[in-house]
Amino acid sequence: MTTGMEMPEQPRSRRQTRAAILTHLLQSGGSFRPPLAKAVRLSEASLSRILFDLKAEGLIEEVRRPAPYVGGPTGLVSLDGSVAVAAFELTAQHLSVGVGGLSGELHYTERVKLPKTPTAESVGQAFREAMTLLRDWTRRRRITLSQIGVSIPGLGRLSISANPIIPCDVGRVGGMFDEMFAGVPLEITNSVVAHATFHRCRTENYPFSDTHLFVLVSHGVAGAWMDDPAKADALQAIELGHMVFEPEGPRCRCGHHGCVEAYASIPALAELLGVAEAELLQLGNEWVNTIPISSRVRQELRRRLFRLGLAIGNTLNVKPCGGVAISGWPSLLAADDRNAVVEGIDACLLGGRKLAQVSIAFVPPSTGNDPQAALAFAGFCLASRGGMPASSTEAA
Ligand SMILES: [Zn+2]
Repeated sequence: MTTGMEMPEQPRSRRQTRAAILTHLLQSGGSFRPPLAKAVRLSEASLSRILFDLKAEGLIEEVRRPAPYVGGPTGLVSLDGSVAVAAFELTAQHLSVGVGGLSGELHYTERVKLPKTPTAESVGQAFREAMTLLRDWTRRRRITLSQIGVSIPGLGRLSISANPIIPCDVGRVGGMFDEMFAGVPLEITNSVVAHATFHRCRTENYPFSDTHLFVLVSHGVAGAWMDDPAKADALQAIELGHMVFEPEGPRCRCGHHGCVEAYASIPALAELLGVAEAELLQLGNEWVNTIPISSRVRQELRRRLFRLGLAIGNTLNVKPCGGVAISGWPSLLAADDRNAVVEGIDACLLGGRKLAQVSIAFVPPSTGNDPQAALAFAGFCLASRGGMPASSTEAA
């Protein structure tokens, strides 16, 4: 949150300084030296020394370009196009695997179908199959992976061994990675964190650059705190979707009743619209122009969006911050409909939205483009550890 007061400068370690440069390049897509130095608070001479190292390590590249201001030409710095990261994204229907670059370009992608009712066993089998495909593909091309990012829905502190959303034994899957991709840094995260990272790095004109709350309204409803990308705990998933409103309400897949997710998830939306979930997914973003909504259904839809707003507002009451980005199906609705979310936030946020100075933005849904979110997350992991080995310890 901006307080109007400058935070005192903390001395940064080499890793943190490198992370600040790499995450800035990841989010900006490239930068000339003078604005880059300013953005990461370094003198041009210090920046120059670090860029020399990063270039030698093959993490960045620089081309001479006429700069759009006095003093040019200078170097346009960007992440090196030859760095390869791998992504695994688990969805309710399949497991996607892919290899791509730090700018989001995909070199390879494959999907392994899941059975209709997945079990920890069959999901583990899908991971083994996808890992084998990836290993064969990278071996044939002699590609060395710099990072693997894995996105799993519902992954949280309570679900390390028993994931309630899609059964997945994360410990076992981690073991398979160690066995098949020894030495490649691996990060496994909740899918909301991967989608939040995707938006922050890839959505043009993403509305927030400092601390904010990201909310994903999709197959489930989840939130993530987004902080300074160079911080160790920059991304944190929260169980916003399982805020209970009616203990007697509809059953939620978490086992409780009346969670906000039981009203606002894609399966709940399908039921309300009177279509099969598969049909709704098939239509993608077009459902909003295809499925007619009666005034009775619209009223109920707005009631549910209002409730979603209450869940978001309550979250902000617990941990205030200045911005909320909402992604998912509500973003597709007309302003009149989605305004119900804003009203819900306003109705419970202490002091109301204006006094609390919370700005709210709807960003487009990012589901259905897997493994792009996991790929963005993998790139972020590499950048935020400064492109250095995951285990290396260092003095500040
Ligand atoms: Zn629930």
